Amino acid sequence: MLLKSNYVITDSISTLPFVGPTYEKKLEKLEILTISDLLHHIPHRYLDFSQLRKISDLKIGEIVTVIGTITSIRNQATKSGRLMQIGQIEDGTGKVSVAWFSQPFLTRMLFPGTKIAISGELSWFNKQPAFFSPQYEKIEEDHETVHTGKIVGVYPETAGLSSKWLKARIKYVLDRIKIENSLDDSAFRKIHFPLSLEDTEKARERLAFNEFVDLLTKAKERKKKLIKKKGITLNIYQKEIDNFINNLDFNLTNSQQKVTKEILSDLSKKIPMNRLLQGDVGSGKTIVAAIATFATYLSGYQTVFLAPTQILASQHYELLKNLFSDLEISLVTAGTKKLDKADIYIGTHALLTKTFEKVGLLVIDEQHKFGVKQINFLQKLNPHVLTMTATPIPRTIAQTLFSDMDLSILDELPKNRQKIKTWLVPNTKRNSAYDWIKSQLTVHGSQCFIICPLVEESESETLKDVRSVKKEFANLQSIFTSFKLGLLHGKLKEKEKNEVLNKFKDGNLNILVSTPVVEVGIDIPNATIMLIEGSDRFGLAQLHQLRGRVGRGKLESYCLLFTENDSEKATERLTALTKITSGFELAELDLKLRGAGDVLGTKQSGFGNLKIADWSQTKIIKLASEAVNNV
Ligand code: ADP
Ligand code: MG
Repeated sequence: MLLKSNYVITDSISTLPFVGPTYEKKLEKLEILTISDLLHHIPHRYLDFSQLRKISDLKIGEIVTVIGTITSIRNQATKSGRLMQIGQIEDGTGKVSVAWFSQPFLTRMLFPGTKIAISGELSWFNKQPAFFSPQYEKIEEDHETVHTGKIVGVYPETAGLSSKWLKARIKYVLDRIKIENSLDDSAFRKIHFPLSLEDTEKARERLAFNEFVDLLTKAKERKKKLIKKKGITLNIYQKEIDNFINNLDFNLTNSQQKVTKEILSDLSKKIPMNRLLQGDVGSGKTIVAAIATFATYLSGYQTVFLAPTQILASQHYELLKNLFSDLEISLVTAGTKKLDKADIYIGTHALLTKTFEKVGLLVIDEQHKFGVKQINFLQKLNPHVLTMTATPIPRTIAQTLFSDMDLSILDELPKNRQKIKTWLVPNTKRNSAYDWIKSQLTVHGSQCFIICPLVEESESETLKDVRSVKKEFANLQSIFTSFKLGLLHGKLKEKEKNEVLNKFKDGNLNILVSTPVVEVGIDIPNATIMLIEGSDRFGLAQLHQLRGRVGRGKLESYCLLFTENDSEKATERLTALTKITSGFELAELDLKLRGAGDVLGTKQSGFGNLKIADWSQTKIIKLASEAVNNV
């Protein structure tokens, strides 16, 4: 192969030496297809090897790096029952202690003889100098000579690509590329091969700025296109609509009335509506969408109602059938070959490949569960689009990510909604919690959800997840012997899922054990207890969503949070959930504590995912927004 001596950022990754089909595939998994993608794959942390110290020269309070060999390491329980990992490192000049909290796997990873670099502050422990929860890095043979005395970027090692391998490829490119914008050029060099940690921060800010500019520019272009589009102007039959609203068995909240007005006004305009309806769990978004659907029908157009899961699609179908007994409503599933003629089509992704005659309105429920590209397909029909989400999106995010949309917010729950009592349950009380649940279910005839987290972060549930939830299911069956339990997970066939859920809905199951697939939208008023295992593994917004599955009926409802992680950080987060009832407040908090992937609950879908920037960088968002608006 002819080696290139000059690269441009649009070059394919395959033009690099050592990148053949195998590595290309691995890189593709990380969405690295071009040189630009590679340069945007940045270290997730840095090891500061620049302040190297011999152990004999260590001073209390200094932040330094020590390179040495593990001589001993063991687990030790503290008085409070937590496990500590306590070890010793020596480097020929002396020995120093290291200690970590709650990371029992370390004793297996860092066995005696392992060469290791420790970075952190030397402090006191058990009256001896020690590194307390330091950063650590195993050192490979030639590591030292290559990296000593530098700040070393560490790349996330996934898809079978080592940090070292990635670093070498990036170095190769940077030696042979000149990026036009000198600020960007310098930023890339500094983020990958910094001379100081300050360098990396400045570089990261620059790249974050670029990322926001990119997002905002795309939104601006979408908006421009939308305004040029000729949409469908609907006649609004206000009297019939009012009639329908007055016949509901509840009064709309003020919020719902206001939002309904906004939507009906949009529908009567020439430019297609592009509105995002945000509302906390249980704020009653569905009925608002139903009113818009009815208005569309009265004007002679069809509505396509898109739901993220089959379960939810069925639920909407039942609801709309109840509300509109005179309308033709069609539930479209993956198995549907030919569409019936209907006024309303409800379904999941299956709808995205169908063709429709006269679509006036597209409703997208829980929009963040869909890929942006998929939805573009239906939008080609130029319908009015109402997008709904129960994931409260903090303002800064909403305005950046959806700057091409109008925002409506349901900031009020229907009256008489009760608070869901939320408890963080210590592991020692697990059995008494189970006993309490048994008595609750017996006394009130109510029902309980038990949610198991996914084992790994991945696109969807893996077989491992299914195995673990099945195991827990068997375990729970042996505990709740006189109750009927059902099992729900993503790998079940649609039919099986519906069967389990319907059984639960009809009261034929007392307890539903499930992966987080039940998270969105499900409405089962007789369920009053939500038990969440491994709750520290969820974002607060997601926990809030799960909690929102109960408290929908008349009975007092409860959310029990279980966790094996008793670190301060986890406890703090989960305690917040026991105190805060507003989804918006929790989302803001999660944004600060864990970043946006968790807030949006959508690491998988690519929605709102940022490569380098961070949604909490409000200042940079503002700068980017100014830059884009001034073009
Ligand atoms: P979400 O906004 O989470 O999608 P839903 O639309 O599922 O919430 O509504 C939750 C429940 O509240 C439903 O059972 C619905 O019938 C009920 N509901 C909606 N609006 C009102 C209201 N104004 N008053 C009383 N109950 C309402
Ligand atoms: Mg909903």
